[in-house]
Amino acid sequence: MRTSWLAGTLLLLPAIAGAEDQAAAPGPEVRPPIVGWMGDAVAAGRPGTLMQVIPPVGGNAVHAVGTTTVIYMNKGGATLTPGNNDSRTNRSTVVAQTSAIPAFEGTAGEWSQIMTCVREIFAPFDVSITDVDPGNVAHFESLMGGRAQQAGMPQGVLGVSPFTTDCSVIPNAIVYTFTQSTRDAYGSSAALAEEICEIAAQEIAHSFGLDHEYLASDPMTYLNFNGLKRFQNVDAQCGENAPRTCGLPGTGVVCSQRQNSVTMLTARIGVGDAIAPTVAITSPQNGATVPTGFTVTTAATDNLAITKVELYVDGALASTLTAAPFSFPLTGLASGGHSIVARAYDSKNQSESTVAVTVQAGAPPPGPGSNPPDPDDGNPDTDGDGNGDIITGGCQAGGAGGLGSLALLALVGLRPRRRQVR
Ligand SMILES: [Zn+2]
Repeated sequence: MRTSWLAGTLLLLPAIAGAEDQAAAPGPEVRPPIVGWMGDAVAAGRPGTLMQVIPPVGGNAVHAVGTTTVIYMNKGGATLTPGNNDSRTNRSTVVAQTSAIPAFEGTAGEWSQIMTCVREIFAPFDVSITDVDPGNVAHFESLMGGRAQQAGMPQGVLGVSPFTTDCSVIPNAIVYTFTQSTRDAYGSSAALAEEICEIAAQEIAHSFGLDHEYLASDPMTYLNFNGLKRFQNVDAQCGENAPRTCGLPGTGVVCSQRQNSVTMLTARIGVGDAIAPTVAITSPQNGATVPTGFTVTTAATDNLAITKVELYVDGALASTLTAAPFSFPLTGLASGGHSIVARAYDSKNQSESTVAVTVQAGAPPPGPGSNPPDPDDGNPDTDGDGNGDIITGGCQAGGAGGLGSLALLALVGLRPRRRQVR
Protein backbone atom coordinates (compact mmCIF):
# COMPACT_ATOMS: atom_id res chain seq x y z
CA MET A 1 0.00 0.00 0.00
CA ARG A 2 1.40 3.32 -0.96
CA THR A 3 0.70 6.78 0.25
CA SER A 4 -0.33 9.69 -1.88
CA TRP A 5 2.32 12.04 -3.21
CA LEU A 6 -0.10 14.89 -3.11
CA ALA A 7 -3.63 15.86 -3.80
CA GLY A 8 -5.37 19.10 -4.45
CA THR A 9 -5.50 21.64 -7.19
CA LEU A 10 -3.02 22.47 -9.86
CA LEU A 11 -1.26 25.74 -9.47
CA LEU A 12 1.11 27.57 -11.70
CA LEU A 13 3.28 29.00 -9.01
CA PRO A 14 5.49 32.03 -9.42
CA ALA A 15 9.20 31.53 -9.23
CA ILE A 16 10.31 30.38 -5.84
CA ALA A 17 13.29 32.00 -4.19
CA GLY A 18 13.51 34.77 -6.73
CA ALA A 19 16.36 36.54 -5.03
CA GLU A 20 18.33 36.47 -8.24
CA ASP A 21 15.83 38.90 -9.68
CA GLN A 22 16.78 41.60 -7.22
CA ALA A 23 20.36 40.97 -6.19
CA ALA A 24 23.30 42.15 -8.20
CA ALA A 25 24.08 39.58 -10.85
CA PRO A 26 26.68 37.20 -9.36
CA GLY A 27 28.77 36.74 -12.45
CA PRO A 28 27.65 33.93 -14.73
CA GLU A 29 25.79 32.14 -11.96
CA VAL A 30 22.39 33.52 -12.83
CA ARG A 31 19.43 31.31 -13.41
CA PRO A 32 18.02 31.79 -16.90
CA PRO A 33 14.44 33.06 -17.06
CA ILE A 34 11.87 30.45 -16.13
CA VAL A 35 8.14 30.33 -16.74
CA GLY A 36 7.09 29.17 -13.29
CA TRP A 37 6.48 26.14 -11.14
CA MET A 38 3.73 23.59 -11.45
CA GLY A 39 2.44 21.33 -8.74
CA ASP A 40 0.53 21.77 -5.54
CA ALA A 41 2.93 20.30 -3.04
CA VAL A 42 3.68 23.63 -1.47
CA ALA A 43 0.23 25.16 -1.63
CA ALA A 44 -1.42 22.06 -0.21
CA GLY A 45 1.14 21.69 2.55
CA ARG A 46 1.68 18.05 1.68
CA PRO A 47 4.70 16.18 0.42
CA GLY A 48 4.76 16.09 -3.35
CA THR A 49 6.63 16.96 -6.48
CA LEU A 50 7.08 20.00 -8.67
CA MET A 51 7.80 20.71 -12.28
CA GLN A 52 9.86 23.75 -13.11
CA VAL A 53 8.46 25.14 -16.33
CA ILE A 54 11.09 26.45 -18.71
CA PRO A 55 11.14 27.53 -22.35
CA PRO A 56 12.03 24.85 -24.91
CA VAL A 57 15.73 24.28 -25.35
CA GLY A 58 15.61 22.64 -28.76
CA GLY A 59 15.80 19.09 -27.49
CA ASN A 60 15.69 16.49 -30.23
CA ALA A 61 12.35 14.79 -29.77
CA VAL A 62 13.21 11.79 -31.94
CA HIS A 63 15.47 9.02 -30.72
CA ALA A 64 18.54 8.57 -32.85
CA VAL A 65 18.88 4.88 -33.62
CA GLY A 66 22.09 3.43 -32.28
CA THR A 67 22.45 5.89 -29.46
CA THR A 68 21.77 4.76 -25.94
CA THR A 69 20.58 7.38 -23.51
CA VAL A 70 22.72 7.44 -20.39
CA ILE A 71 20.99 8.08 -17.08
CA TYR A 72 23.33 8.78 -14.21
CA MET A 73 21.85 8.00 -10.81
CA ASN A 74 24.03 10.26 -8.68
CA LYS A 75 24.21 9.05 -5.09
CA GLY A 76 27.38 10.96 -4.31
CA GLY A 77 25.99 14.48 -3.99
CA ALA A 78 26.82 17.49 -6.13
CA THR A 79 27.22 21.25 -6.04
CA LEU A 80 24.96 22.92 -8.59
CA THR A 81 25.28 26.38 -9.99
CA PRO A 82 22.45 28.20 -11.73
CA GLY A 83 22.48 28.06 -15.50
CA ASN A 84 21.08 26.26 -18.46
CA ASN A 85 20.72 22.56 -17.65
CA ASP A 86 23.95 20.65 -18.22
CA SER A 87 24.81 17.54 -16.23
CA ARG A 88 28.41 17.71 -17.45
CA THR A 89 29.04 21.04 -15.72
CA ASN A 90 26.51 20.75 -12.87
CA ARG A 91 24.49 23.68 -14.23
CA SER A 92 20.83 23.63 -13.38
CA THR A 93 17.84 25.87 -13.99
CA VAL A 94 16.27 24.53 -10.81
CA VAL A 95 18.62 26.25 -8.36
CA ALA A 96 18.63 30.02 -7.96
CA GLN A 97 22.02 30.07 -6.29
CA THR A 98 24.94 27.74 -5.81
CA SER A 99 23.50 24.77 -3.94
CA ALA A 100 25.09 21.66 -2.47
CA ILE A 101 23.01 18.49 -2.52
CA PRO A 102 24.45 15.91 -0.13
CA ALA A 103 25.07 12.27 -0.89
CA PHE A 104 22.35 9.64 -0.60
CA GLU A 105 21.84 9.11 3.12
CA GLY A 106 20.50 5.54 3.01
CA THR A 107 22.10 2.15 3.16
CA ALA A 108 23.86 0.30 0.38
CA GLY A 109 20.99 -2.16 0.43
CA GLU A 110 18.44 0.60 -0.13
CA TRP A 111 20.52 2.00 -2.94
CA SER A 112 20.71 -1.38 -4.59
CA GLN A 113 16.91 -1.67 -4.40
CA ILE A 114 16.51 1.77 -5.94
CA MET A 115 18.89 0.96 -8.81
CA THR A 116 17.15 -2.34 -9.48
CA CYS A 117 13.77 -0.61 -9.52
CA VAL A 118 14.85 2.23 -11.82
CA ARG A 119 16.47 -0.25 -14.21
CA GLU A 120 13.28 -2.30 -14.22
CA ILE A 121 11.09 0.72 -14.92
CA PHE A 122 13.24 1.83 -17.86
CA ALA A 123 14.09 -1.68 -19.11
CA PRO A 124 11.74 -1.43 -22.13
CA PHE A 125 13.75 1.50 -23.45
CA ASP A 126 17.21 2.09 -24.86
CA VAL A 127 18.86 3.50 -21.78
CA SER A 128 21.97 2.74 -19.81
CA ILE A 129 21.46 3.40 -16.12
CA THR A 130 24.60 3.82 -14.07
CA ASP A 131 25.59 5.10 -10.66
CA VAL A 132 29.13 5.82 -11.83
CA ASP A 133 29.67 9.38 -13.08
CA PRO A 134 29.87 9.17 -16.89
CA GLY A 135 32.00 12.32 -16.91
CA ASN A 136 32.10 14.71 -19.81
CA VAL A 137 29.73 12.83 -22.09
CA ALA A 138 26.08 13.51 -22.80
CA HIS A 139 23.89 12.15 -20.04
CA PHE A 140 20.81 12.78 -18.00
CA GLU A 141 21.43 13.06 -14.28
CA SER A 142 19.13 12.13 -11.44
CA LEU A 143 20.42 13.60 -8.21
CA MET A 144 19.46 11.34 -5.33
CA GLY A 145 19.93 12.89 -1.92
CA GLY A 146 19.22 15.61 0.54
CA ARG A 147 16.26 17.79 1.30
CA ALA A 148 14.29 20.20 -0.86
CA GLN A 149 15.48 23.20 1.12
CA GLN A 150 19.06 22.43 0.08
CA ALA A 151 18.04 23.21 -3.51
CA GLY A 152 16.05 26.27 -2.48
CA MET A 153 12.71 24.46 -2.60
CA PRO A 154 10.13 24.64 0.16
CA GLN A 155 9.91 21.78 2.61
CA GLY A 156 7.62 19.05 1.35
CA VAL A 157 8.95 18.94 -2.18
CA LEU A 158 10.18 15.40 -2.78
CA GLY A 159 11.25 15.77 -6.39
CA VAL A 160 11.57 18.36 -9.10
CA SER A 161 12.48 18.39 -12.75
CA PRO A 162 12.61 21.06 -15.40
CA PHE A 163 9.88 20.66 -18.00
CA THR A 164 9.48 22.62 -21.20
CA THR A 165 6.32 24.40 -22.26
CA ASP A 166 6.19 22.29 -25.44
CA CYS A 167 6.82 18.91 -23.73
CA SER A 168 10.18 18.45 -25.44
CA VAL A 169 13.42 16.80 -24.38
CA ILE A 170 15.90 18.71 -22.21
CA PRO A 171 19.28 17.28 -23.19
CA ASN A 172 21.67 16.69 -20.28
CA ALA A 173 19.01 17.66 -17.80
CA ILE A 174 19.58 17.43 -14.07
CA VAL A 175 16.55 16.27 -12.10
CA TYR A 176 16.20 15.94 -8.35
CA THR A 177 14.80 13.36 -5.98
CA PHE A 178 15.17 14.57 -2.41
CA THR A 179 15.66 11.24 -0.74
CA GLN A 180 16.05 12.62 2.78
CA SER A 181 12.84 14.61 2.35
CA THR A 182 11.12 11.47 1.13
CA ARG A 183 12.44 9.56 4.12
CA ASP A 184 11.22 12.38 6.38
CA ALA A 185 7.78 12.11 4.83
CA TYR A 186 7.36 8.37 4.69
CA GLY A 187 9.84 6.91 7.15
CA SER A 188 12.35 4.16 6.46
CA SER A 189 9.72 1.63 5.48
CA ALA A 190 10.16 -1.37 3.27
CA ALA A 191 8.40 0.56 0.51
CA LEU A 192 10.69 3.58 0.72
CA ALA A 193 13.05 2.43 -2.02
CA GLU A 194 10.13 1.88 -4.38
CA GLU A 195 8.71 5.29 -3.50
CA ILE A 196 12.04 6.99 -4.14
CA CYS A 197 12.45 5.03 -7.36
CA GLU A 198 9.02 6.03 -8.66
CA ILE A 199 9.65 9.69 -7.88
CA ALA A 200 12.98 9.50 -9.69
CA ALA A 201 11.35 7.81 -12.68
CA GLN A 202 8.77 10.60 -12.92
CA GLU A 203 11.40 13.34 -12.68
CA ILE A 204 13.64 11.66 -15.25
CA ALA A 205 10.72 11.24 -17.65
CA HIS A 206 9.74 14.90 -17.23
CA SER A 207 13.13 15.75 -18.71
CA PHE A 208 12.18 13.53 -21.68
CA GLY A 209 9.06 15.68 -22.09
CA LEU A 210 6.45 13.49 -20.38
CA ASP A 211 3.65 15.28 -18.56
CA HIS A 212 1.74 14.03 -15.52
CA GLU A 213 -0.78 11.33 -16.35
CA TYR A 214 -4.19 10.85 -14.87
CA LEU A 215 -3.49 7.12 -14.69
CA ALA A 216 -2.77 5.66 -11.27
CA SER A 217 -0.58 2.73 -12.40
CA ASP A 218 1.92 4.91 -14.28
CA PRO A 219 4.88 6.59 -12.56
CA MET A 220 3.84 9.88 -14.19
CA THR A 221 0.79 10.04 -11.96
CA TYR A 222 -0.06 11.94 -8.80
CA LEU A 223 -2.71 9.37 -7.97
CA ASN A 224 -2.57 6.59 -5.41
CA PHE A 225 -1.90 3.11 -6.70
CA ASN A 226 -1.92 -0.13 -4.76
CA GLY A 227 0.98 -1.72 -6.62
CA LEU A 228 4.18 -0.95 -8.45
CA LYS A 229 3.94 1.99 -10.83
CA ARG A 230 5.37 1.17 -14.24
CA PHE A 231 5.13 2.96 -17.60
CA GLN A 232 1.84 1.92 -19.18
CA ASN A 233 1.08 1.40 -22.84
CA VAL A 234 -2.19 3.27 -22.47
CA ASP A 235 -3.49 6.41 -24.16
CA ALA A 236 -4.09 8.23 -20.91
CA GLN A 237 -5.39 11.63 -20.09
CA CYS A 238 -2.88 13.98 -18.57
CA GLY A 239 -3.47 15.71 -15.30
CA GLU A 240 -2.73 15.68 -11.61
CA ASN A 241 -5.92 15.50 -9.57
CA ALA A 242 -8.26 15.93 -12.51
CA PRO A 243 -7.90 15.07 -16.18
CA ARG A 244 -6.76 17.71 -18.66
CA THR A 245 -5.07 17.92 -22.02
CA CYS A 246 -1.31 17.33 -22.12
CA GLY A 247 0.80 20.43 -21.86
CA LEU A 248 0.77 23.05 -19.19
CA PRO A 249 -2.36 24.91 -18.25
CA GLY A 250 -1.72 28.61 -18.22
CA THR A 251 0.94 28.46 -20.90
CA GLY A 252 -1.52 28.26 -23.76
CA VAL A 253 0.26 25.25 -25.24
CA VAL A 254 -1.49 21.92 -25.77
CA CYS A 255 1.08 19.24 -26.46
CA SER A 256 -1.45 16.50 -27.16
CA GLN A 257 -4.92 15.37 -26.14
CA ARG A 258 -3.61 12.20 -24.51
CA GLN A 259 -0.26 10.72 -23.54
CA ASN A 260 0.98 7.15 -23.88
CA SER A 261 4.15 7.01 -21.81
CA VAL A 262 5.46 3.85 -23.49
CA THR A 263 4.89 5.21 -26.99
CA MET A 264 6.37 8.55 -26.08
CA LEU A 265 9.46 7.11 -24.39
CA THR A 266 9.98 4.69 -27.26
CA ALA A 267 9.92 7.58 -29.72
CA ARG A 268 12.31 9.67 -27.69
CA ILE A 269 14.77 7.23 -26.14
CA GLY A 270 14.25 4.10 -28.22
CA VAL A 271 13.44 0.47 -27.61
CA GLY A 272 15.47 -1.40 -25.07
CA ASP A 273 17.16 -4.75 -25.28
CA ALA A 274 15.46 -6.70 -22.55
CA ILE A 275 17.58 -9.83 -22.95
CA ALA A 276 20.98 -9.78 -21.31
CA PRO A 277 23.97 -11.40 -23.01
CA THR A 278 25.37 -14.70 -21.84
CA VAL A 279 29.05 -15.15 -21.19
CA ALA A 280 31.17 -18.06 -19.99
CA ILE A 281 34.87 -18.39 -19.34
CA THR A 282 35.63 -21.56 -21.24
CA SER A 283 39.27 -21.71 -20.16
CA PRO A 284 40.77 -21.91 -17.63
CA GLN A 285 38.30 -23.85 -15.60
CA ASN A 286 37.31 -22.71 -12.16
CA GLY A 287 39.88 -23.91 -9.63
CA ALA A 288 42.60 -24.54 -12.20
CA THR A 289 46.28 -24.17 -11.46
CA VAL A 290 47.86 -22.13 -14.24
CA PRO A 291 51.28 -20.68 -15.14
CA THR A 292 52.08 -16.97 -14.82
CA GLY A 293 51.02 -16.44 -18.42
CA PHE A 294 48.03 -18.02 -20.14
CA THR A 295 45.04 -17.17 -22.30
CA VAL A 296 41.53 -16.69 -20.98
CA THR A 297 38.99 -17.79 -23.56
CA THR A 298 35.36 -16.76 -23.29
CA ALA A 299 32.15 -17.46 -25.16
CA ALA A 300 29.71 -14.54 -25.33
CA THR A 301 26.37 -14.44 -27.10
CA ASP A 302 23.45 -12.04 -27.26
CA ASN A 303 20.06 -11.94 -28.94
CA LEU A 304 21.13 -8.75 -30.74
CA ALA A 305 24.83 -8.01 -30.50
CA ILE A 306 27.70 -8.12 -28.05
CA THR A 307 29.20 -4.65 -27.86
CA LYS A 308 32.25 -5.60 -25.79
CA VAL A 309 33.73 -8.09 -23.38
CA GLU A 310 35.89 -6.87 -20.54
CA LEU A 311 38.33 -8.98 -18.60
CA TYR A 312 39.01 -8.20 -14.97
CA VAL A 313 41.82 -9.70 -12.90
CA ASP A 314 41.34 -9.31 -9.16
CA GLY A 315 38.77 -6.60 -9.82
CA ALA A 316 40.96 -4.49 -12.11
CA LEU A 317 40.15 -4.08 -15.78
CA ALA A 318 42.88 -5.87 -17.71
CA SER A 319 41.59 -5.78 -21.27
CA THR A 320 38.59 -4.94 -23.44
CA LEU A 321 37.64 -6.57 -26.73
CA THR A 322 34.89 -5.35 -29.02
CA ALA A 323 34.88 -8.23 -31.49
CA ALA A 324 35.16 -12.00 -31.34
CA PRO A 325 37.15 -14.06 -30.59
CA PHE A 326 37.01 -12.89 -27.02
CA SER A 327 40.32 -14.40 -25.96
CA PHE A 328 42.56 -12.56 -23.54
CA PRO A 329 46.27 -13.35 -23.19
CA LEU A 330 47.51 -12.68 -19.68
CA THR A 331 51.12 -12.50 -18.61
CA GLY A 332 53.10 -11.80 -15.49
CA LEU A 333 50.60 -12.88 -12.89
CA ALA A 334 51.95 -13.27 -9.38
CA SER A 335 51.91 -16.64 -7.72
CA GLY A 336 48.85 -17.42 -5.69
CA GLY A 337 45.11 -17.12 -6.04
CA HIS A 338 43.46 -14.77 -8.52
CA SER A 339 39.91 -13.95 -9.53
CA ILE A 340 39.16 -13.65 -13.24
CA VAL A 341 35.92 -12.08 -14.39
CA ALA A 342 34.66 -11.76 -17.96
CA ARG A 343 31.92 -9.15 -18.32
CA ALA A 344 29.94 -9.09 -21.56
CA TYR A 345 27.79 -6.16 -22.67
CA ASP A 346 25.04 -5.65 -25.18
CA SER A 347 23.61 -2.20 -25.84
CA LYS A 348 22.18 -1.98 -22.35
CA ASN A 349 22.75 -5.11 -20.30
CA GLN A 350 25.74 -6.90 -18.91
CA SER A 351 26.54 -10.36 -17.64
CA GLU A 352 29.51 -11.86 -15.87
CA SER A 353 31.39 -15.12 -15.60
CA THR A 354 33.94 -15.68 -12.85
CA VAL A 355 36.62 -18.27 -12.23
CA ALA A 356 39.20 -18.57 -9.48
CA VAL A 357 42.67 -19.77 -10.46
CA THR A 358 45.91 -20.46 -8.68
CA VAL A 359 49.04 -19.21 -10.43
CA GLN A 360 52.08 -21.36 -10.02
CA ALA A 361 55.21 -20.69 -12.04
CA GLY A 362 55.90 -23.57 -14.38
CA ALA A 363 52.40 -24.98 -14.19
CA PRO A 364 51.07 -26.21 -17.51
CA PRO A 365 48.88 -23.78 -19.40
CA PRO A 366 45.18 -24.46 -19.48
CA GLY A 367 43.72 -25.74 -22.69
CA PRO A 368 40.38 -26.92 -23.90
CA GLY A 369 39.90 -30.56 -23.04
CA SER A 370 43.18 -30.88 -21.20
CA ASN A 371 42.24 -29.27 -18.00
CA PRO A 372 43.23 -30.34 -15.43
CA PRO A 373 46.44 -31.22 -17.26
CA ASP A 374 47.71 -34.75 -17.41
CA PRO A 375 50.73 -35.26 -15.18
CA ASP A 376 54.11 -35.62 -16.72
CA ASP A 377 54.91 -39.20 -17.58
CA GLY A 378 58.17 -38.69 -19.42
CA ASN A 379 56.70 -39.26 -22.86
CA PRO A 380 56.55 -36.68 -25.68
CA ASP A 381 54.15 -33.83 -25.13
CA THR A 382 51.38 -34.21 -27.68
CA ASP A 383 48.70 -31.95 -26.29
CA GLY A 384 50.77 -28.87 -25.62
CA ASP A 385 50.22 -28.74 -21.92
CA GLY A 386 53.92 -28.98 -21.12
CA ASN A 387 53.83 -32.55 -19.93
CA GLY A 388 54.59 -35.73 -21.74
CA ASP A 389 51.70 -37.88 -22.82
CA ILE A 390 51.34 -41.60 -22.93
CA ILE A 391 49.84 -41.50 -26.39
CA THR A 392 52.42 -42.10 -29.04
CA GLY A 393 52.52 -43.10 -32.66
CA GLY A 394 50.35 -41.43 -35.27
CA CYS A 395 47.98 -39.83 -32.89
CA GLN A 396 49.69 -36.44 -32.76
CA ALA A 397 48.19 -35.41 -36.07
CA GLY A 398 44.98 -33.44 -36.17
CA GLY A 399 43.60 -30.26 -34.74
CA ALA A 400 43.82 -29.04 -31.24
CA GLY A 401 40.41 -30.45 -30.41
CA GLY A 402 41.43 -33.91 -31.45
CA LEU A 403 44.56 -33.76 -29.42
CA GLY A 404 42.63 -32.48 -26.51
CA SER A 405 40.21 -35.35 -26.76
CA LEU A 406 43.02 -37.81 -26.93
CA ALA A 407 44.62 -36.26 -23.91
CA LEU A 408 41.35 -36.48 -22.06
CA LEU A 409 40.99 -40.13 -22.99
CA ALA A 410 44.47 -40.73 -21.72
CA LEU A 411 43.69 -39.01 -18.51
CA VAL A 412 40.43 -40.77 -17.87
CA GLY A 413 41.14 -44.21 -19.10
CA LEU A 414 44.79 -44.88 -18.65
CA ARG A 415 45.94 -43.03 -15.65
CA PRO A 416 45.84 -46.09 -13.34
CA ARG A 417 48.11 -48.01 -15.61
CA ARG A 418 50.42 -45.07 -15.95
CA ARG A 419 50.67 -44.85 -12.23
CA GLN A 420 51.51 -48.53 -12.07
CA VAL A 421 54.34 -47.99 -14.51
CA ARG A 422 55.79 -45.42 -12.21
ZN1 LIG B 1 6.07 15.59 -11.67
